[in-house]
Amino acid sequence: MAARTVLRMGHPKLREQSRTLTREEILSQETAALLQDLQDTMEREGGIGIAAPQIGENLQATIIELPENSERYGTLNSSARFTIFNPVIEVIDEAHQGFWEGCLSVPGLRGYVERPRKVRITYLDEKAQQKVIEPEGFLATVFQHELDHLFGVLYIDRIKDPTKLSFNEEFDEFHT
Ligand code: ZN
Repeated sequence: MAARTVLRMGHPKLREQSRTLTREEILSQETAALLQDLQDTMEREGGIGIAAPQIGENLQATIIELPENSERYGTLNSSARFTIFNPVIEVIDEAHQGFWEGCLSVPGLRGYVERPRKVRITYLDEKAQQKVIEPEGFLATVFQHELDHLFGVLYIDRIKDPTKLSFNEEFDEFHT
């Protein structure tokens, strides 16, 4: 168990539909090892979420954790850690909100993406128990970004205004 290489945009595995896991699979040692690798990789890279396809496993598994003292997301409230398998997503509030997003698989860039401001996600947790969460605001964006990875979608696909795609340095200089 260890941090793994993060696949970058252009790798075909990032564009595949990932498959669901059975309850038995979720409770297996293999999946526990996968979750540990996801956690280790996310911590090494300094991300707030990571999905299994990003480390080369086309399984519907993702973890999300907003650290309490993140420099990058300093003004946000911290949240619990979420481990999510087999998510089903419904839009609760069609109103869109925009945030500048980044992605470990698209290093060095930021892009402005508008997404529904509130969603409902039904999923299985690490104990294979069904859970429902209704994230809103920035957390809704984080969940939608990570879940997109399970269906072969990257945030850049959702950028409506290409002038709002920027390298990090130019983002800091011109867009904050
Ligand atoms: Zn991403």
